[in-house]
Amino acid sequence: MGPPKVAIVGASAAGLIAAYNLAKNGVPVEVLEAQKDFEPLERTLIVTCAIESLIDFDFSETILNDIKNFRLISKNRKVDIPLSKADLVIERRNFLRLLYTKAQEEGVRIFLGRRVRRVDRYENFVKVTCEVDGNLEEIVADYAIMANGVQGLDFHRPCTTVGISQARVDLPKNTDKSTVHVWFDPSTTRFFYWLIPESNESAVLGVIGQSKKEAERLLITFMNKNGMRPRMWQNSEDVPLPTLKKSRVSLGDGRILLAGDSAAQVKATTVGGLVTGLKGGISASYIILRRKDSRDLLRSLEKELLIHTIVRGILDMFNETDYDLLIKIINKRLLSLFERVTRDELSKMSFKIFLSQPKLFGLLLRVFMRKIFSQWRQKGKLSRGRDVLPIDLV
Ligand SMILES: Cc1cc2nc3c(=O)[nH]c(=O)nc-3n(C[C@H](O)[C@H](O)[C@H](O)COP(=O)(O)OP(=O)(O)OC[C@H]3O[C@@H](n4cnc5c(N)ncnc54)[C@H](O)[C@@H]3O)c2cc1C
Repeated sequence: MGPPKVAIVGASAAGLIAAYNLAKNGVPVEVLEAQKDFEPLERTLIVTCAIESLIDFDFSETILNDIKNFRLISKNRKVDIPLSKADLVIERRNFLRLLYTKAQEEGVRIFLGRRVRRVDRYENFVKVTCEVDGNLEEIVADYAIMANGVQGLDFHRPCTTVGISQARVDLPKNTDKSTVHVWFDPSTTRFFYWLIPESNESAVLGVIGQSKKEAERLLITFMNKNGMRPRMWQNSEDVPLPTLKKSRVSLGDGRILLAGDSAAQVKATTVGGLVTGLKGGISASYIILRRKDSRDLLRSLEKELLIHTIVRGILDMFNETDYDLLIKIINKRLLSLFERVTRDELSKMSFKIFLSQPKLFGLLLRVFMRKIFSQWRQKGKLSRGRDVLPIDLV
């Protein structure tokens, strides 16, 4: 019996890395991509150095800039968080083009203009039905990997999505090109605004909102307030936001696997999905290759995503004062922890974070108690009129 044949839906980060990995291990792979031309949207992404452990070829040509410092800004405070290992600012289109070429070099067959309409599971195979120029075509394979982004969410679970708006702007004067700025303003968004420098001349300014429309509106207001002008918009479809409900990574007894945004493999804290999507794609390929460590990689990814989802749930309750307090209590011990691990390794340090700064417990207590008080108040169990807690726990 020869190696299994795999059909992959979606030629983007998660699908192409899975295809590349499988083909490298001698598995025949066909990738079906809905777009007629391979022209991924131009988008500036920031990723941690964790990406280097996932890609086994040189991708330096796709790197625009190195980030060595994060400046977190709340209403009344700010703090600098230096990184010992630089984050990378990557141009998505070039990165995907490179991945596409590498996959083809390994023998992956990529078919453009194939919009997959159905994936059916039979006893020993899957049947993928796609639309080509108005006609339906069927492909039979041993496994299918759904890596079709946010659209894939419809296949298997009710999805929560949020909108991102991002625009290229001139790098503001006196701004260091290796520092990312992050603004927390819970009066406008439960997420944050960012400025990611691409070079000495340009940066991308972005925000996450409840929907794409809301994010666009917030970004325009922010730009007007700060005298910035968009040089180019990098908006896109909505992005998935994982919930505590566990996302499925396989359907139909494991014959249909899910990877990337279609499996909501996105960090809920930052809505960053490149590194986690690549990990998801690699995990799917390991499962098909029956590698012993396939479940370990998936489990560590799921654990990581869960922690980000919990942190997101907590941050969603923060008000302006909470962010001020959070920034105030970032001490040297916390900074040295942040220096040692990346945002893609939060599970490695979640306990250490609390041990390094016990005041974080106080902050959490403050946030939870306010939530409970407000719920009681809504239920009419508490008299109205008191807006702040009687104790400042931090
Ligand atoms: C503005 C913006 C900024 C972002 N910034 C960052 C960042 O800084 N860092 C970070 O890590 N992440 C960031 N992200 C998220 C990151 O880009 C995504 O998580 C990641 O690209 C998802 O990759 P994917 O392969 O899972 O899906 P996608 O890139 O969405 O690819 C899905 C592919 O499937 C194809 N497809 C869809 N339906 C079908 C079908 N029925 N048949 C065939 N093909 C189909 C699509 O055409 C597409 O090519 C950002 C997202 C946005 C929108």
